[in-house]
Formats: sequence, structure tokens, C-alpha cells
Amino acid sequence: MPFPSWGETREGHSMLKEAVEQLDRASHLLGLDPNVADRLRYPKRALVVTVPIRMDDGRVVSYTGYRVHHNVTLGPGKGGIRYSPTVSLEETTALAMWMTWKCALMNIPFGGAKGGVCCDTHKMSRREIQALTRRYTSEIVMLIGPERDIPAPDMYTNEQTMAWIMDTYSMQVGYSVPGVVTGKPVVVGGSLGRREATGIGLCNLIFATLDRLKLDPQKMTAVVQGFGNVGSVAALELWRDKVKVVAVSDVYGGAYHPAGLPVDALIRHVDEGGKVSEFPGATAVSNRELLEIPCDILTPCATAGQITKENAPKIQCRILAEGANGPTTLEADAILADKGVFIIPDVLGNAGGVTTSYFEWVQDTQKFFWDIGEINRQLERIMLQAFQEVLALSKERGVSHRMAALMIGISRVAEAMRFRGLYP
Ligand code: NAD
Repeated sequence: MPFPSWGETREGHSMLKEAVEQLDRASHLLGLDPNVADRLRYPKRALVVTVPIRMDDGRVVSYTGYRVHHNVTLGPGKGGIRYSPTVSLEETTALAMWMTWKCALMNIPFGGAKGGVCCDTHKMSRREIQALTRRYTSEIVMLIGPERDIPAPDMYTNEQTMAWIMDTYSMQVGYSVPGVVTGKPVVVGGSLGRREATGIGLCNLIFATLDRLKLDPQKMTAVVQGFGNVGSVAALELWRDKVKVVAVSDVYGGAYHPAGLPVDALIRHVDEGGKVSEFPGATAVSNRELLEIPCDILTPCATAGQITKENAPKIQCRILAEGANGPTTLEADAILADKGVFIIPDVLGNAGGVTTSYFEWVQDTQKFFWDIGEINRQLERIMLQAFQEVLALSKERGVSHRMAALMIGISRVAEAMRFRGLYP
């Protein structure tokens, strides 16, 4: 079968190749109808837009943006918006495909979508980022809407970005539409607990794993790569539960302390504009070194392609809990499996974000808001249910946790496609 060719990422690591290879392996194991399996390899639609904005120095710079709907059989498209220099059509398509499996795995009535703009927000002012967001929203407005496609935050976007998208969309239709995005501030219809949901959902599964393996959290050490929305919350939750967080990093590098880092103070240090690697009292380490530090729990919460066949043999953890999307290549997966590492794969591990995004969309639709206790209870229930299903299928079929998670998601989408039939 031809491979959908959308180009390579800049680092030469093709996320789409990985995503399609995962799909092909899972389709084979499921014995999927080849007509359905082949359709799933391609996105339903992909929009490429030019986003021209006036910079603070008066120049007009044109950025390239994307919004991809991979599959919307189960409901409106759902997926984050990423602002990063790595953003490309192929990266966005791979991320949209993973969203399809993730929503289906969690039994959430959404399809898979993703978007982004190729830009470096570290070099842009707040006004420039706002202009970029508003123009990008206008360019993709024909694809989004509370019943069509609901964006959310991803790398280098946050609740402020979502508020600008909601405002731009609302201005175009003439009334306020909070349900067009999730991950927005509570005051404009956001949900309590959404910002923390991905990190908290990941920790629900880490603690369930420790329980299963009969390991005492207080005797565990953890390393967290990426200290943004997902990584900082995961690190804080682990630290609060007395896990020793020995190393943490951001894009500039990491901080290591064998006795454990005070994560609350580290968050304050970063909030005040400090780099993780400059945290007083800690030893600076590179991101590469960080991944090889011996620990019980390794939590990649940054970007894709971090654990590869080159560094997998040097990774020394018992549990790999993936907060990021696509941090481990298929080749690395096999090496880690041989070493007996317990993997919580990305489509399961980081699904707390989309789960609470679903709660936010339900609350916006019903105009009735839940308290934080209800949200975190429902989040934990859905995370643990999916976790049990993945472990059960992995055991039954003798496949990895990643393959089991993908098989559950893919089979649900394929079944829905079979019932809906091929239009016209
Ligand atoms: P963010 O922008 O809030 O934080 C990203 C962090 O990663 C920053 O600390 C940044 O400095 C760091 N980073 C970037 N490149 C790095 C590298 N090469 N090495 C080490 N650190 C690096 O982003 P986020 O929302 O926390 O997203 C992180 C990951 O989690 C992404 O892969 C994203 O797709 C995934 N994810 C996010 C959500 C969510 O709700 N935000 C949900 C599911 C999955």
C-alpha cells in the first residue's frame, strides 16, 4: 500500500510514518477489513493556511498554519493547537490520527483533529501572538465550531490563546460561543480542573501502576522531561505524593538533584522567568543526559521522538509514563519491552486532557457547571476504566500496552465506520 506522503519533520523523524506504522500493525492484529484499514491511513481533510501578521517593527510576516481532521466518525473533531517551529502538515496529521484513537479509547464522542502554526513564540511579543491567533482562527473558521471541531491547547498555546480563539469566532458569528474551544479560562466558560487534567490523569495511572506492581510511592524516584502544562503538573502531583522528583527539564536543559527537587519552588522559579537548568542548588544536565538518569518513573512530557533506538538501551526506568504525544519510537518500544519496562502509552497516558475537555464541552453545551470534586472523580473513573481495558487486552492477546490501546481505539472507530457505511 502506498505510504501517505506529507513530507518529513525537520529533525528527520517522521511522526506520520510512526503513526501509520502503528495503525498498520494494529489493523493486522485486529484482522481489520482492508477497505477500512486503508481509509484510516489518510486524513478526512487538511487545510493549509497562510497567516500574515504585522510584527512590532512594522514588517508583515507570513506564517503557515494547518488544521487537519483525521476522522470524525464518532463526533466533532477534537485536538489541540500547537505553535512551534516543528509544526508541519505531516506532524499535524500524525497528531490528528492519534487524537482519533485516543478519543475512541476513552469512549469520548469526538473524532480526531489537530492544528498548529509553524512559528517560534519565544521570539514573539504578546501582541504578535494575539494577532497570529486571531488571523489563524479566521483562516480556519470554516472548519471549527462546537458541533464541528473544537480546538484545545497544546505545546506553546494556553488558556489565553483559547480565549482569543473563542473571542475571534464569537465576533464572526455575532454572539458568544464558549463551546468552540476547550481549555479556556473559567471566567469565559472554561472548566475547573482542565489546565491540570493531563498531568493529573497521567498521575492517576502512575499511582495505579505502582499499586499494581506493589511499589511504595514514597520509595520511588521520578524524572520528568518538559516542564510546561503537562510536565509541571505531573511533577507537582508526584512530589505531593512523596515521590522523589530527582530531575526535570525544559527546552533549554534540565536540573538534577539526587535528594529530590522541591517542585513547588521550581514552579515559582519558572513562573518568575527562570530556566529549569538554572534552579539554585541543582546540577544542570542536558535533555539527553536527563533521559538516561536511573529512576523508577520516567515521564516524557515535551515532544515526539525523544526515546529512540539510540538511547533506549541506556534508559534505566521501571515505568515509562508518556505525557507527550509520540515520545517513543517503535524501535525504542521493542528495546524497552525487552528490558521489562512497564509502559503507559501516550494515547492512554495523556488522555486526561481530552477527557476533561469533553467535560468542558458538555458543561458549555448544558450551561451547567460542575465542581472540581465531580470533575476529578469522573476523570479518574474514565482513566482507570481505559487502563483496565488496555491491560486486559494486552494480557489476552499477548501484545504491548501501546498496541492494546491502539487496537481498542482503532476497532471502535472501524466498527462505527462499518455501521455508518460508505457515503453516498
Ligand atoms: P507546554 O508548551 O505547556 O510545555 C512544553 C514544555 O516542554 C516546556 O517546558 C518546554 O520548554 C519543553 N520542551 C519543549 N521541547 C523540549 C525538548 N526538546 N526537550 C525538553 N523539553 C522540551 O506544552 P504542554 O501542553 O505541556 O504539552 C507537552 C506535551 O504533552 C506535548 O507533546 C503535547 O502534545 C502533549 N499533550 C498536551 C496536552 C495538554 O492538555 N496540554 C494533552 C495531551 C498531550
